[in-house]
Amino acid sequence: MLIFWVLLALVALRVIFVVGFAYLLIPRGRRCPACGAETVPIRGTGLMRLLPGIDRRWCMECGWSWYRKRPVPQPAAREATPTHTLK
Ligand SMILES: [Zn+2]
Repeated sequence: MLIFWVLLALVALRVIFVVGFAYLLIPRGRRCPACGAETVPIRGTGLMRLLPGIDRRWCMECGWSWYRKRPVPQPAAREATPTHTLK
C-alpha cells in the first residue's frame, strides 16, 4: 500500500511541476505580440474561471488570441506635491 501512495505523490508532484512551468511561460501584458495593438480580454468559460490572474485576450487588429497573465497595476503617477523643508 505504501508504494501506491509514493507513486500517487510522484504523479501529483509531476502535475504541479508541469502546471507551474506552464504558468511561468505565459507572458504578461496587454499588447499583441503580433502587431503591438492593445488586446481585449475574452470572458472566461469553464476551466478559465478556475485560473486566477490569467485571461484569454483577443487582438481586434489582427485576430490574435491567446492566454496572458493580467498585467500588474502600475502605481499612480506621483503628483507634484510641494516639498516642505524645515528651517
Ligand atoms: Zn494583433
